[in-house]
Amino acid sequence: MGSKKRSAWQKQKAEFAASLGGRDDLFADGGRDPFARESAARTARDEAREAARRKKACERKNRYASRYEAEATAAECAEHGAPPLHVYRCPYCEGWHLTSKGE
Ligand SMILES: [Zn+2]
Repeated sequence: MGSKKRSAWQKQKAEFAASLGGRDDLFADGGRDPFARESAARTARDEAREAARRKKACERKNRYASRYEAEATAAECAEHGAPPLHVYRCPYCEGWHLTSKGE
């Protein structure tokens, strides 16, 4: 019963492929699946965005080994009239950074 169904589907598929001009590779080649390609592009974009975020939040900032050290630096900056700095634990390097925004 299952094989009968499948052969009906094969026939339908062949007819549909023929109506598209013999492009049965649309079904056969998963690598040309437009949805798979779109998802790969999205993954690449996410990675680029993630790298940019990491650069902004971590790599271009001073890194402090402890919260105390970061807070001491923030306090020192405040004494010199700098806008208040917020201390946060970095998810990328496990160190501490300072930001002027409430991130
Ligand atoms: Zn970091």
